[in-house]
Amino acid sequence: MSLRDPNCIFCKIIAGDIPSSRVLETETALAFLDINPINHGHVLLVPKAHHPAIFDLGEEEAAETARLLPRLARAIRKATGADGLNVIINNGDCAGQTIFHGHWHIVPRFKADAVNWPWPHSPYSGDELGQMQFRVKRELEAE
Ligand code: 5GP
Ligand code: ZN
Repeated sequence: MSLRDPNCIFCKIIAGDIPSSRVLETETALAFLDINPINHGHVLLVPKAHHPAIFDLGEEEAAETARLLPRLARAIRKATGADGLNVIINNGDCAGQTIFHGHWHIVPRFKADAVNWPWPHSPYSGDELGQMQFRVKRELEAE
């Protein structure tokens, strides 16, 4: 896996080849304002190394990046006056991912904002829940 993809817009932002409004930077991660925000103050947090999605991210790198989340969340809440905040990672185009350099969205939320949330939910039936628990645990044990 290459650490930088020459066609990736976030790799270009990380390298400083295209401009961004940076708010926090460490050796391994960068946070900058989303150019087309869900609400003003929407920040993207990215590991600097190129990984298309969360499936490809190493545990150390994930931890190094995610450890910045509480501090960013507090700063964004204070800076925007938000009532709450969503932290979201889209993985795969069916899940809404459009930039294939994995990233956390940190989205300030306001009581009366126009964001369409929550998503629809539906319960399991029969033994589906137990079967799903078994399948996920089996895959984890196989890792
Ligand atoms: P995704 O849909 O992949 O989860 O999120 C990609 C995000 O990147 C979108 O919210 C989009 O507005 C943001 N974005 C796309 N291009 C740029 C850019 O050039 N600069 C910045 N700051 N954000 C971008
Ligand atoms: Zn990239």
